[in-house]
Amino acid sequence: MDYQALLNIIEKDLESFDHQGKVASYIPELAFVSPNKFGMHLHCINGKDYFIGDSEEKFSIQSISKVFTLTLAKKHKSKIWDRVDVEPSGNPFNSLIQLEKEKGVPRNPFINSGALVIADILISCLENPKEELLAFVRYLAQDHDIYYDEKVAASEKSKGYRNIALVNYMKSLGNINNDADDILDFYFHQCSLAMSCSQLSKAFMVFANEGKIIGTQERVLKTKSIKRINAIMQTCGFYDEAGEFSFRVGLPGKSGVGGGIVAIHPHQYAVAVWSPKLNAHGNSEKGMRALEELTSLTGLSIF
Ligand code: GLN
Repeated sequence: MDYQALLNIIEKDLESFDHQGKVASYIPELAFVSPNKFGMHLHCINGKDYFIGDSEEKFSIQSISKVFTLTLAKKHKSKIWDRVDVEPSGNPFNSLIQLEKEKGVPRNPFINSGALVIADILISCLENPKEELLAFVRYLAQDHDIYYDEKVAASEKSKGYRNIALVNYMKSLGNINNDADDILDFYFHQCSLAMSCSQLSKAFMVFANEGKIIGTQERVLKTKSIKRINAIMQTCGFYDEAGEFSFRVGLPGKSGVGGGIVAIHPHQYAVAVWSPKLNAHGNSEKGMRALEELTSLTGLSIF
């Protein structure tokens, strides 16, 4: 497959894409990002790279980090599924409304409440959670040049009212063990990770390669765990737009309010796209469109 030719077509087709959405500004630091950035990077199972636009520029990965923390928790064989469910929420990523009925057990690990429980689990099992998460992401990407963006983490902390509410609410319902401030500090840092499309596509190859690092073939997780994480990406990776993403793109994936989306085609490739303007569901508008075009042009999706 000549992926470079396809990416070039996508770049040209979307040159004058008519955005309706806006760059996220509820995390003040994110509002400074230039709205017209666009990059895409596809890393193939055979190790080849294909890219367009701002694919080497780092941006805030935000909720994409929830896939890394779930993977790290699984790697440490943490017990997860009695504390977080695996059902789509059909609600916005920062919603509180289902928690009361469900006794503080979040619907899935990719909404904020679920990711905060995963953060709690990691804090309980790791000695230096922030350092170990960073090392893990660098290992997955096989790239040391990945850091937390302290400015973004501090910016979210200054306005993170809903996440503060979520942690405290779940603590009152008995599903949080550690100190709320420690969990929030870890969570705001994981969301502040700055990575490029190039780095993200490489880091996500583990999900396209049955749980092994591409190149070295070192095993990170069992094939069965990878199958499950991919299933949760498919059903829950885009919150109340997960159905739409499946319908239009047809690949497991995860988005973040920094405007990034990563998707994988098992045994074929991982692809990351970045365009900061978000639709009403908090997902990158142009990013979704670019991925839709990719699977339409190749004629291949997991369906
Ligand atoms: N840090 C963001 C938040 O908690 C992540 C949300 C997202 O990327 N969807 O609101």
